[in-house]
Amino acid sequence: MNQVIRGIKVKPKLNVQNRHIMIMYAEAARTIYNDVVQKFKEDYRYYKLEKELEELEGKEDPSDEDNQKIKEIQEELKSKPEPMEFSRSGVDNVIKGIIFPKYPSMKKFVYSKLIRDAGYQALTAIQRFLKGLSGFPRFKSWKYTQSFKFSQIPLHHLMVRGKNGTVKIPTPQGQPSMQLLLRGFRPEYPILKIVETVVKIFPDGHIMVSMSFYTKVKPKVPSKIEVIGVDIGIKKTAVLSNGIMFPRLQIDHIFQEIKLIQRKLDKYKNTRLRLGYRRKLRNRYVKLWRRVTAIRRDHINQIVNELSKYLVVIVEDLNLKEMTKSTKGTVDKPNPKSKVERNIHRDFLNHTPGMFFRVLEERKGTLGIIVRKVSPVNTSRRCNECGYIAKNNRNREVFKCKKCGHRDDADLNAAKNIRDISGVKITLGEDGKYTVNV
Ligand SMILES: [Zn+2]
Repeated sequence: MNQVIRGIKVKPKLNVQNRHIMIMYAEAARTIYNDVVQKFKEDYRYYKLEKELEELEGKEDPSDEDNQKIKEIQEELKSKPEPMEFSRSGVDNVIKGIIFPKYPSMKKFVYSKLIRDAGYQALTAIQRFLKGLSGFPRFKSWKYTQSFKFSQIPLHHLMVRGKNGTVKIPTPQGQPSMQLLLRGFRPEYPILKIVETVVKIFPDGHIMVSMSFYTKVKPKVPSKIEVIGVDIGIKKTAVLSNGIMFPRLQIDHIFQEIKLIQRKLDKYKNTRLRLGYRRKLRNRYVKLWRRVTAIRRDHINQIVNELSKYLVVIVEDLNLKEMTKSTKGTVDKPNPKSKVERNIHRDFLNHTPGMFFRVLEERKGTLGIIVRKVSPVNTSRRCNECGYIAKNNRNREVFKCKKCGHRDDADLNAAKNIRDISGVKITLGEDGKYTVNV
């Protein structure tokens, strides 16, 4: 038996009061998220000044001008409030010191752990930005889909009876408790622990609850006791060493519409004009994104389903940070145009490999497959026939070995290399059982 994470998405049945609480929780979560981001935005100047000061003070022979500048920076630093510490306790302090005094009734009506979870979510976005993994955290707008999550709901709050389930959503002390009826909640496996509960409120009023759990499953047995290599890319999502290719998603037309809507909405930014029309546009926008996500999930599931036939799957240990860096910039070198020129379409494609690796990790336990990673160095330059490595072996889509003349599709050649350099071997014993080295 393998322990894995599985999820269920259901539409809850809500009465007026519970719907009201849900909307209030979402609003609170958004406010907290935005306030933590706002705090970081203010602090950002502080960090920059600190860095500048450090550089100036490190100079061996500072000029009068430098000394003057040092004084000015020291003065400005003194006038600024203490910056936030990048840790959970740092976020807790911001909530206690800044957010609660600003919204005195929040503590009374909103469950405390939800408040903290929202703050930690902002922290994750900030940390991703500081590591150069994503752009400067953006404020959440009430105009689009709202969501909040609980990281800790105890298992005994969840009950399954017949076709439906109920979950007790925590409320603060002194407030009425809240039971949600989850229609069609029928997990087909034992639930060991609730990992996370996310509530999403769509602009058209739809509310969805997704819960993920730890469970134990008996892994499937792959039909082919073989090793397969996978080359993951952006031009083609995946190329397998057996020759199967998954071309990249053809969703340009959807992105064109998304961009068009974005442009129309931008025209009315900071105005109070044509509210009904804008609401209609926003609903369409959210719907399109939902469709895009569904298409992508489908695409990735197709690839993983194909891979699930093989006992051992070899992938490259790709540094996704490097792959997505180009459009975003980093802390030290932020790309000033990134916000304006941000190509959401390209971002999306760039992030598809990340989603693939996540899904593969999540599902390998259930599928009974072994996943190994190899270094991506030279996988596209090495000839799979003779092993000769040269930069000019590859010419865009075509691989042609400069030594032995071997020709192949460049990505297919890479996939075969990924399979072969792993050194993974499956040995079949006389008793029909197999062993895998590595
Ligand atoms: Zn060769």
